[in-house]
Amino acid sequence: ASKAYIDLVGKKATTPCGKTIALHMNAGLMADLPSLASSGADGVGLFRTELQFLIRNSVPKRGELATLYSSVMDAARGKRVAFRTLDIGSDKVLPYMKPQDEPNPAMGWRAIRVGLDKRGVMRMQLQALIRACAGRPLTVMFPFIAQFEEFRAARAMVDAEIENEKRLGHVLPTSVEVGAMLETPSLAFAPDQFFMEADFISIGGNDLKQFFFAADRENERVRKRYDTLNISFLSFIRQIVERCDAHGTPVSFCGEDAGRPLEAVCFAAMGLMSLSMRPASIGPIKNVLRQVNLDDIAEIINAAAKRGDQSVRTEIAAYMVDNGVTP
Ligand code: PEP
Ligand code: MG
Repeated sequence: ASKAYIDLVGKKATTPCGKTIALHMNAGLMADLPSLASSGADGVGLFRTELQFLIRNSVPKRGELATLYSSVMDAARGKRVAFRTLDIGSDKVLPYMKPQDEPNPAMGWRAIRVGLDKRGVMRMQLQALIRACAGRPLTVMFPFIAQFEEFRAARAMVDAEIENEKRLGHVLPTSVEVGAMLETPSLAFAPDQFFMEADFISIGGNDLKQFFFAADRENERVRKRYDTLNISFLSFIRQIVERCDAHGTPVSFCGEDAGRPLEAVCFAAMGLMSLSMRPASIGPIKNVLRQVNLDDIAEIINAAAKRGDQSVRTEIAAYMVDNGVTP
Protein backbone atom coordinates (compact mmCIF):
# COMPACT_ATOMS: atom_id res chain seq x y z
CA ALA A 1 0.00 0.00 0.00
CA SER A 2 1.22 3.50 -0.62
CA LYS A 3 2.54 5.29 2.45
CA ALA A 4 -0.61 7.29 3.06
CA TYR A 5 -2.66 4.13 3.63
CA ILE A 6 -0.21 2.03 5.67
CA ASP A 7 -2.05 2.88 8.89
CA LEU A 8 -5.26 1.52 7.43
CA VAL A 9 -3.92 -1.90 6.46
CA GLY A 10 -5.04 -3.62 9.66
CA LYS A 11 -8.26 -1.63 9.92
CA LYS A 12 -11.72 -2.38 8.56
CA ALA A 13 -13.75 -0.34 6.11
CA THR A 14 -16.32 0.56 8.76
CA THR A 15 -18.51 3.59 8.10
CA PRO A 16 -19.52 6.13 10.79
CA CYS A 17 -23.03 4.59 10.49
CA GLY A 18 -21.59 1.25 11.60
CA LYS A 19 -21.57 -0.78 8.38
CA THR A 20 -18.44 -2.77 7.51
CA ILE A 21 -17.79 -3.28 3.81
CA ALA A 22 -15.53 -6.18 2.86
CA LEU A 23 -12.83 -5.06 0.43
CA HIS A 24 -11.31 -7.71 -1.80
CA MET A 25 -8.78 -7.41 -4.57
CA ASN A 26 -8.81 -8.48 -8.20
CA ALA A 27 -5.84 -10.51 -9.44
CA GLY A 28 -4.74 -12.63 -12.36
CA LEU A 29 -1.08 -13.45 -11.87
CA MET A 30 1.06 -14.87 -9.08
CA ALA A 31 2.84 -11.50 -9.08
CA ASP A 32 -0.37 -9.84 -7.84
CA LEU A 33 -0.54 -11.91 -4.67
CA PRO A 34 1.93 -9.96 -2.50
CA SER A 35 -0.56 -7.07 -2.72
CA LEU A 36 -2.99 -9.10 -0.65
CA ALA A 37 -0.98 -8.53 2.52
CA SER A 38 0.33 -5.07 1.67
CA SER A 39 -3.07 -3.65 0.71
CA GLY A 40 -4.93 -5.20 3.63
CA ALA A 41 -7.53 -6.75 1.29
CA ASP A 42 -9.91 -9.27 2.86
CA GLY A 43 -9.28 -11.76 0.06
CA VAL A 44 -9.19 -12.13 -3.71
CA GLY A 45 -12.70 -11.41 -4.97
CA LEU A 46 -11.81 -12.13 -8.57
CA PHE A 47 -8.93 -14.22 -9.85
CA ARG A 48 -9.03 -13.98 -13.65
CA THR A 49 -7.67 -17.34 -14.78
CA GLU A 50 -7.55 -16.54 -18.50
CA LEU A 51 -4.27 -14.62 -18.18
CA GLN A 52 -2.41 -17.91 -17.68
CA PHE A 53 -3.92 -19.17 -20.91
CA LEU A 54 -3.29 -15.97 -22.86
CA ILE A 55 0.42 -15.68 -22.09
CA ARG A 56 1.39 -19.00 -23.64
CA ASN A 57 1.10 -20.67 -26.99
CA SER A 58 -0.26 -24.08 -26.04
CA VAL A 59 -2.95 -25.28 -23.64
CA PRO A 60 -1.45 -25.42 -20.15
CA LYS A 61 -1.31 -28.90 -18.64
CA ARG A 62 -3.53 -29.81 -15.71
CA GLY A 63 -0.56 -30.40 -13.44
CA GLU A 64 0.92 -26.98 -14.22
CA LEU A 65 -2.37 -25.27 -13.49
CA ALA A 66 -2.84 -27.19 -10.26
CA THR A 67 0.63 -26.09 -9.15
CA LEU A 68 -0.12 -22.48 -10.01
CA TYR A 69 -3.52 -22.44 -8.26
CA SER A 70 -1.96 -24.12 -5.28
CA SER A 71 0.73 -21.42 -5.07
CA VAL A 72 -2.00 -18.78 -5.25
CA MET A 73 -3.79 -20.44 -2.33
CA ASP A 74 -0.51 -20.68 -0.38
CA ALA A 75 0.21 -17.00 -0.99
CA ALA A 76 -3.31 -16.07 0.15
CA ARG A 77 -2.54 -17.63 3.55
CA GLY A 78 -6.05 -18.72 4.34
CA LYS A 79 -7.81 -15.71 2.84
CA ARG A 80 -10.58 -16.50 0.38
CA VAL A 81 -9.71 -16.64 -3.32
CA ALA A 82 -12.59 -16.68 -5.83
CA PHE A 83 -11.25 -18.37 -8.97
CA ARG A 84 -13.16 -17.32 -12.04
CA THR A 85 -13.09 -20.00 -14.75
CA LEU A 86 -11.84 -19.11 -18.19
CA ASP A 87 -13.42 -16.01 -19.75
CA ILE A 88 -12.22 -16.42 -23.31
CA GLY A 89 -14.07 -15.42 -26.42
CA SER A 90 -13.34 -14.33 -29.90
CA ASP A 91 -12.10 -10.95 -28.62
CA LYS A 92 -9.50 -12.65 -26.37
CA VAL A 93 -8.31 -15.27 -28.81
CA LEU A 94 -6.02 -18.00 -27.59
CA PRO A 95 -3.09 -18.63 -29.94
CA TYR A 96 -4.10 -22.29 -30.12
CA MET A 97 -7.83 -21.73 -30.60
CA LYS A 98 -9.39 -21.30 -34.01
CA PRO A 99 -10.54 -17.68 -34.19
CA GLN A 100 -14.29 -17.36 -34.57
CA ASP A 101 -15.36 -14.77 -37.04
CA GLU A 102 -18.04 -13.05 -34.99
CA PRO A 103 -19.49 -9.61 -35.66
CA ASN A 104 -20.07 -8.92 -31.91
CA PRO A 105 -17.51 -10.90 -29.93
CA ALA A 106 -18.44 -9.34 -26.56
CA MET A 107 -21.83 -10.94 -26.92
CA GLY A 108 -20.63 -13.89 -28.84
CA TRP A 109 -19.29 -17.32 -28.04
CA ARG A 110 -17.32 -16.53 -24.91
CA ALA A 111 -16.81 -17.45 -21.27
CA ILE A 112 -19.24 -20.06 -19.91
CA ARG A 113 -20.71 -20.52 -23.39
CA VAL A 114 -17.38 -21.91 -24.56
CA GLY A 115 -16.89 -23.79 -21.29
CA LEU A 116 -20.17 -25.66 -21.63
CA ASP A 117 -19.80 -26.38 -25.35
CA LYS A 118 -16.15 -27.46 -25.25
CA ARG A 119 -16.05 -29.24 -21.95
CA GLY A 120 -12.52 -30.59 -22.09
CA VAL A 121 -10.78 -27.38 -21.12
CA MET A 122 -13.24 -26.51 -18.37
CA ARG A 123 -13.09 -30.03 -16.91
CA MET A 124 -9.31 -29.86 -16.88
CA GLN A 125 -9.43 -26.46 -15.20
CA LEU A 126 -11.90 -27.65 -12.57
CA GLN A 127 -9.76 -30.72 -11.87
CA ALA A 128 -6.73 -28.49 -11.39
CA LEU A 129 -8.67 -26.24 -9.00
CA ILE A 130 -10.01 -29.17 -6.99
CA ARG A 131 -6.51 -30.64 -6.63
CA ALA A 132 -5.00 -27.28 -5.73
CA CYS A 133 -7.62 -26.85 -2.99
CA ALA A 134 -7.34 -30.36 -1.52
CA GLY A 135 -7.60 -30.01 2.26
CA ARG A 136 -8.72 -26.38 2.04
CA PRO A 137 -11.78 -24.46 0.82
CA LEU A 138 -12.48 -24.15 -2.91
CA THR A 139 -14.27 -21.09 -4.26
CA VAL A 140 -15.04 -21.09 -7.97
CA MET A 141 -17.23 -18.78 -10.03
CA PHE A 142 -18.47 -18.89 -13.57
CA PRO A 143 -18.33 -15.87 -15.88
CA PHE A 144 -21.13 -14.55 -18.01
CA ILE A 145 -23.99 -16.69 -16.74
CA ALA A 146 -27.03 -15.37 -18.64
CA GLN A 147 -29.60 -17.96 -17.60
CA PHE A 148 -30.17 -20.35 -14.71
CA GLU A 149 -29.63 -23.49 -16.82
CA GLU A 150 -26.06 -22.44 -17.55
CA PHE A 151 -25.31 -22.16 -13.85
CA ARG A 152 -26.90 -25.55 -13.16
CA ALA A 153 -24.89 -27.19 -15.94
CA ALA A 154 -21.64 -25.58 -14.76
CA ARG A 155 -22.29 -26.55 -11.17
CA ALA A 156 -23.03 -30.12 -12.24
CA MET A 157 -19.57 -30.21 -13.81
CA VAL A 158 -18.00 -29.20 -10.48
CA ASP A 159 -20.02 -31.89 -8.66
CA ALA A 160 -19.00 -34.52 -11.21
CA GLU A 161 -15.31 -33.68 -10.86
CA ILE A 162 -15.56 -33.78 -7.07
CA GLU A 163 -17.20 -37.22 -7.30
CA ASN A 164 -14.41 -38.35 -9.56
CA GLU A 165 -11.73 -37.21 -7.12
CA LYS A 166 -13.56 -39.00 -4.34
CA ARG A 167 -13.64 -42.21 -6.38
CA LEU A 168 -9.91 -41.93 -6.97
CA GLY A 169 -9.44 -41.67 -3.23
CA HIS A 170 -7.85 -38.20 -3.42
CA VAL A 171 -8.06 -35.60 -0.68
CA LEU A 172 -10.99 -33.28 -1.37
CA PRO A 173 -11.45 -29.57 -0.70
CA THR A 174 -12.82 -28.99 2.80
CA SER A 175 -15.72 -27.01 1.34
CA VAL A 176 -16.88 -26.08 -2.16
CA GLU A 177 -18.52 -22.75 -2.90
CA VAL A 178 -19.86 -22.25 -6.43
CA GLY A 179 -20.90 -18.79 -7.57
CA ALA A 180 -22.21 -17.05 -10.66
CA MET A 181 -21.05 -13.80 -12.14
CA LEU A 182 -23.98 -11.54 -12.86
CA GLU A 183 -22.87 -9.72 -16.00
CA THR A 184 -26.00 -9.71 -18.11
CA PRO A 185 -29.26 -8.04 -17.03
CA SER A 186 -31.15 -11.28 -17.74
CA LEU A 187 -29.66 -13.01 -14.71
CA ALA A 188 -31.12 -10.39 -12.37
CA PHE A 189 -34.53 -11.69 -13.45
CA ALA A 190 -33.71 -15.39 -13.07
CA PRO A 191 -36.12 -17.56 -11.06
CA ASP A 192 -35.87 -17.52 -7.24
CA GLN A 193 -34.47 -21.04 -7.46
CA PHE A 194 -31.32 -19.67 -9.10
CA PHE A 195 -30.65 -17.37 -6.15
CA MET A 196 -31.19 -20.33 -3.82
CA GLU A 197 -28.80 -22.61 -5.68
CA ALA A 198 -25.97 -20.14 -6.23
CA ASP A 199 -23.64 -20.06 -3.23
CA PHE A 200 -22.78 -16.45 -4.03
CA ILE A 201 -23.15 -13.86 -6.74
CA SER A 202 -20.47 -11.57 -8.05
CA ILE A 203 -21.61 -8.63 -10.13
CA GLY A 204 -19.27 -8.13 -13.09
CA GLY A 205 -19.97 -4.44 -13.37
CA ASN A 206 -17.87 -3.83 -16.47
CA ASP A 207 -19.96 -6.18 -18.53
CA LEU A 208 -23.20 -5.52 -16.67
CA LYS A 209 -23.00 -1.80 -17.39
CA GLN A 210 -22.10 -2.44 -21.02
CA PHE A 211 -25.18 -4.60 -21.50
CA PHE A 212 -27.48 -2.49 -19.32
CA PHE A 213 -26.91 0.58 -21.50
CA ALA A 214 -26.07 -1.35 -24.68
CA ALA A 215 -22.83 0.66 -24.80
CA ASP A 216 -19.59 -1.07 -25.77
CA ARG A 217 -17.12 -0.91 -22.85
CA GLU A 218 -14.25 -0.66 -25.35
CA ASN A 219 -15.76 2.27 -27.24
CA GLU A 220 -14.90 5.56 -25.51
CA ARG A 221 -17.42 7.47 -27.52
CA VAL A 222 -20.45 5.60 -26.26
CA ARG A 223 -19.05 4.33 -22.96
CA LYS A 224 -18.71 7.82 -21.52
CA ARG A 225 -22.28 8.75 -22.40
CA TYR A 226 -23.62 6.62 -19.58
CA ASP A 227 -22.68 7.38 -16.01
CA THR A 228 -22.31 4.55 -13.53
CA LEU A 229 -24.05 6.89 -11.10
CA ASN A 230 -27.05 6.98 -13.41
CA ILE A 231 -30.13 6.57 -11.21
CA SER A 232 -31.49 3.70 -13.29
CA PHE A 233 -28.25 1.76 -13.01
CA LEU A 234 -28.01 2.32 -9.25
CA SER A 235 -31.61 1.28 -8.85
CA PHE A 236 -30.85 -1.88 -10.84
CA ILE A 237 -27.93 -2.64 -8.52
CA ARG A 238 -30.24 -2.14 -5.54
CA GLN A 239 -32.78 -4.58 -6.99
CA ILE A 240 -30.09 -7.22 -7.52
CA VAL A 241 -28.89 -6.79 -3.93
CA GLU A 242 -32.47 -7.05 -2.65
CA ARG A 243 -33.07 -10.30 -4.52
CA CYS A 244 -29.83 -11.75 -3.16
CA ASP A 245 -30.60 -10.58 0.37
CA ALA A 246 -34.09 -12.09 0.20
CA HIS A 247 -32.48 -15.50 -0.36
CA GLY A 248 -29.50 -14.98 1.91
CA THR A 249 -27.17 -15.22 -1.10
CA PRO A 250 -23.93 -13.28 -0.54
CA VAL A 251 -23.39 -10.69 -3.27
CA SER A 252 -20.36 -8.64 -4.19
CA PHE A 253 -19.31 -6.30 -7.01
CA CYS A 254 -16.04 -6.80 -8.87
CA GLY A 255 -15.99 -4.38 -11.81
CA GLU A 256 -13.54 -1.47 -12.17
CA ASP A 257 -16.11 0.93 -10.74
CA ALA A 258 -15.74 -0.66 -7.29
CA GLY A 259 -12.33 1.04 -7.08
CA ARG A 260 -13.70 4.55 -7.68
CA PRO A 261 -14.64 6.53 -4.58
CA LEU A 262 -18.02 7.99 -5.61
CA GLU A 263 -19.10 4.72 -7.20
CA ALA A 264 -17.99 2.65 -4.20
CA VAL A 265 -19.99 4.73 -1.69
CA CYS A 266 -23.08 4.62 -3.90
CA PHE A 267 -22.82 0.84 -4.28
CA ALA A 268 -22.42 0.46 -0.53
CA ALA A 269 -25.46 2.71 -0.04
CA MET A 270 -27.37 0.37 -2.39
CA GLY A 271 -26.60 -2.42 0.06
CA LEU A 272 -23.47 -3.97 -1.42
CA MET A 273 -21.41 -5.09 1.54
CA SER A 274 -18.53 -6.51 -0.48
CA LEU A 275 -16.45 -4.90 -3.23
CA SER A 276 -13.50 -6.23 -5.21
CA MET A 277 -11.04 -3.91 -6.93
CA ARG A 278 -7.47 -3.47 -8.10
CA PRO A 279 -5.11 -3.59 -5.10
CA ALA A 280 -4.07 0.08 -5.35
CA SER A 281 -7.68 1.14 -4.77
CA ILE A 282 -8.15 -0.70 -1.48
CA GLY A 283 -6.52 2.01 0.66
CA PRO A 284 -8.32 5.01 -0.88
CA ILE A 285 -11.71 3.26 -0.90
CA LYS A 286 -11.32 2.13 2.69
CA ASN A 287 -10.37 5.64 3.68
CA VAL A 288 -13.46 7.10 2.00
CA LEU A 289 -15.87 4.53 3.41
CA ARG A 290 -14.58 5.22 6.91
CA GLN A 291 -15.73 8.82 6.53
CA VAL A 292 -19.11 8.43 4.86
CA ASN A 293 -22.56 7.96 6.36
CA LEU A 294 -24.29 5.60 3.92
CA ASP A 295 -27.76 6.73 5.04
CA ASP A 296 -26.90 10.23 3.81
CA ILE A 297 -25.81 8.81 0.45
CA ALA A 298 -28.97 6.69 0.14
CA GLU A 299 -31.05 9.78 0.92
CA ILE A 300 -29.29 11.81 -1.76
CA ILE A 301 -29.91 9.03 -4.29
CA ASN A 302 -33.58 8.68 -3.32
CA ALA A 303 -34.14 12.44 -3.58
CA ALA A 304 -32.50 12.55 -7.00
CA ALA A 305 -34.65 9.63 -8.14
CA LYS A 306 -37.79 11.46 -6.98
CA ARG A 307 -36.78 14.57 -8.91
CA GLY A 308 -36.20 12.47 -12.01
CA ASP A 309 -32.50 13.33 -12.26
CA GLN A 310 -30.37 11.33 -14.62
CA SER A 311 -27.27 10.94 -12.46
CA VAL A 312 -26.34 11.59 -8.87
CA ARG A 313 -22.68 12.41 -9.54
CA THR A 314 -22.84 16.15 -8.88
CA GLU A 315 -24.68 15.72 -5.59
CA ILE A 316 -22.41 12.95 -4.30
CA ALA A 317 -19.30 14.93 -5.28
CA ALA A 318 -20.72 17.97 -3.46
CA TYR A 319 -21.42 15.84 -0.37
CA MET A 320 -17.79 14.74 -0.34
CA VAL A 321 -16.57 18.33 -0.52
CA ASP A 322 -19.06 19.61 2.09
CA ASN A 323 -18.08 16.86 4.53
CA GLY A 324 -14.36 17.06 3.85
CA VAL A 325 -14.26 13.44 2.67
CA THR A 326 -11.04 12.68 0.79
CA PRO A 327 -9.69 9.40 -0.64
C1 PEP B 1 -16.63 -7.46 -15.27
O1 PEP B 1 -17.18 -7.68 -16.35
O2 PEP B 1 -16.94 -6.52 -14.51
C2 PEP B 1 -15.54 -8.32 -14.79
C3 PEP B 1 -15.08 -8.24 -13.56
O3 PEP B 1 -14.99 -9.19 -15.67
P1 PEP B 1 -14.02 -8.73 -16.87
O4 PEP B 1 -13.68 -7.28 -16.66
O5 PEP B 1 -12.86 -9.64 -16.82
O6 PEP B 1 -14.92 -8.93 -18.05
MG1 MG C 1 -16.85 -9.56 -17.36
